[in-house]
Amino acid sequence: MSEDFLQQDVRYVKGVGEKRADVWAEQHGVRTVHDLLRFYPRRYLDRTTVTPVRQLQEGPDSVTVVGTVRSVNVVPGNNQKRLEIILEGEQGGRMKGTWFQGVWWVRKAFDEGDRVAFHGTVEKYGRWHSMTHPDFDRLNDEGPLLDTGRIVPLYPGGEAMSNVGLTSRTVRRVLYDLFKEHGLKLTETMPDWIMDGYDLMEGRVALRAIHFPKTQQELSRARRRLKFEELFFIQLLLAQMHEQQEEVAGPAFDDPGAYTREFVREVLPFELTGAQTRALREIIGDVQTGTQMNRLLQGDVGSGKTVVAVAAMMHAYDSGYQSAFMAPTEILAEQHHANLQDYLQPLGLEPRLLIGSQTKAEREAALQAVRSGASPVAVGTHALIQDEVAFDRLGLAVVDEQHRFGVAQRAEMFEKGERPHMLLMTATPIPRSLALTLYGDLDVSKIDEMPPGRKPVETRLRAEKRRGEVYAFLNDRLEQGEQAFVVYPLVEESEKMDLKDAESGAQELQEKFPDYTVGLVHGQLSADDKDATMRRFKEGDIDLLVATTVIEVGVDVPNATVMLVEHAERFGLSQLHQLRGRVGRSDQQSYCVLMASYKRSQEAKQRLEAMARTNDGFEISETDLQIRGAGDFFGTRQSGMPDLKIADLTEDDEILEVAREAAFALIEKDPHLRADEHERLRRRYQEDYAEHGLGFARVG
Ligand code: ADP
Ligand code: MG
Repeated sequence: MSEDFLQQDVRYVKGVGEKRADVWAEQHGVRTVHDLLRFYPRRYLDRTTVTPVRQLQEGPDSVTVVGTVRSVNVVPGNNQKRLEIILEGEQGGRMKGTWFQGVWWVRKAFDEGDRVAFHGTVEKYGRWHSMTHPDFDRLNDEGPLLDTGRIVPLYPGGEAMSNVGLTSRTVRRVLYDLFKEHGLKLTETMPDWIMDGYDLMEGRVALRAIHFPKTQQELSRARRRLKFEELFFIQLLLAQMHEQQEEVAGPAFDDPGAYTREFVREVLPFELTGAQTRALREIIGDVQTGTQMNRLLQGDVGSGKTVVAVAAMMHAYDSGYQSAFMAPTEILAEQHHANLQDYLQPLGLEPRLLIGSQTKAEREAALQAVRSGASPVAVGTHALIQDEVAFDRLGLAVVDEQHRFGVAQRAEMFEKGERPHMLLMTATPIPRSLALTLYGDLDVSKIDEMPPGRKPVETRLRAEKRRGEVYAFLNDRLEQGEQAFVVYPLVEESEKMDLKDAESGAQELQEKFPDYTVGLVHGQLSADDKDATMRRFKEGDIDLLVATTVIEVGVDVPNATVMLVEHAERFGLSQLHQLRGRVGRSDQQSYCVLMASYKRSQEAKQRLEAMARTNDGFEISETDLQIRGAGDFFGTRQSGMPDLKIADLTEDDEILEVAREAAFALIEKDPHLRADEHERLRRRYQEDYAEHGLGFARVG
């Protein structure tokens, strides 16, 4: 009971009150004492972390400076206004902070004479050391900082917070009083074997030290403890889901029979790669045990996942079960359906397509075939298993491009009454740290080998002035009888006048290449029209396919050897990698040409350089995670993954590994956390994580 005060409303905490509590809750989700203790500083200032302005040097690492604002000016530029702030360092020296975006908003945040800290990378322009869009903290409320020998924590702030007086200084005061009065009530939640086994700082000590560190060493031990704890509770949830899944009954398949054999040996014109065979064996092992399979099939675009999935579906059929094949969009469902037709027709089987844009009669016929069991496979979007679609005997659900569905939807799929085996496929390799968090409850098969004879795609970065050269190259490839994709980021001219859209691009290309057929697909065509054009391209009637990103995933046209991406700087890194995966699907040498203007943001530059540097999907995804941060990556935010307050998946992979190990060991030892030594941990888990933070997957 001694921990009950953790659940108390912050408004009753000394120094808070109603008004501040409201703002704190609204701005930062701080509602209880527990939340308050985990309202972590965003930065610390001390003599070791602040660089004197006089000593600034250009360089790639972020640095922090502290000083006084001497002038604030909006400067008209060639085509863009900018805001310039001149900062004078505490011990002299001057530097500039520059903003191109949010000029007026930032303008309002500063007055001459303000004391501020800037945080960012330093570049030198003429005689000025300068930071562009630095992160900043206002320090007007602070006394002397650096000459005190203290480490000063700075908290997340903002206008609303400072309007009710919640500056870093007040926050420190509130926390100081809280620790003084209640600090001893904080009891240790981690059992001894975890504390000792992972050399953790005591929880109470760590919380105090994160807010009031005495030394940098103490701070870093405190961070490690709190990061461990945060990641541990997420992994505990995943470990529990994994444990529960292992107890869920699933259909018990027989040994693979005639359909599986014939598909692999007769229908496929090639041998499976070692990686494909391994993955297939793992799947076959899972589905015969009588418990539900939950397996993620991970592999780069074109590594041959679909083929493995089809073999698994044939295995289901051999055992008397149907399969559902789910794609994230209708157009992809259609393409999968077309491929499946090619694969299954030689076996005398007919896959059925179920999508919204069908006529009623088509849909009725398909529903009937699925309901009666006449069709072995139904292909569609995930509405397939959410809607009224009735299967005669569903045994396997294959989900393509799993990362687009999100964890919440996945949890929903798992909740179906009669549980089919689940095979989740993802084409974009996920960095391990993220996979362990998003898919930490799943078993994983990796296809880490490309079909033989594939040549790595050659990637080139080209600027506008070399367009002539690029077209000459394109012409060479077309003369060889090869085909090309040209991809645009926009569909309609109206959005940006200076951007050539797909339509006018197609027109221009047709004029440039009068001997060849240019086709166009974009998001605003009907599904039928898109499909028809795709098919013509696939069959070779179209030589040059101009497209918006609708071709991003899925289409398989081995004779296409060039992927030309216009305005490549506007695409995300995984998107570019997916696009590049559309070529290089045969033994012919393929090329990816990225057309990009020189006006690139720093991030765009990093993306394009990564593309030119490597073809390795894993390296690409690691880079992508680093550029974007975990929150944006694959839209994990909308997937319901809990916000991490202190751990960072881009850098804490080592802590993640041990936290995961500890969590899985715990569930192994004590699946329901019933042991006395786990009593406090269980309560914390239920109060603070199972109910509050982790809506993305239910417990128990
Ligand atoms: P993914 O689903 O991983 O993108 P697919 O299963 O669609 O990959 O396979 C991509 C292409 O490679 C297809 O044209 C397929 O026929 C071909 N392919 C798959 N496996 C092999 C293999 N073992 N050897 C040769 N080609 C293969
Ligand atoms: Mg695929």
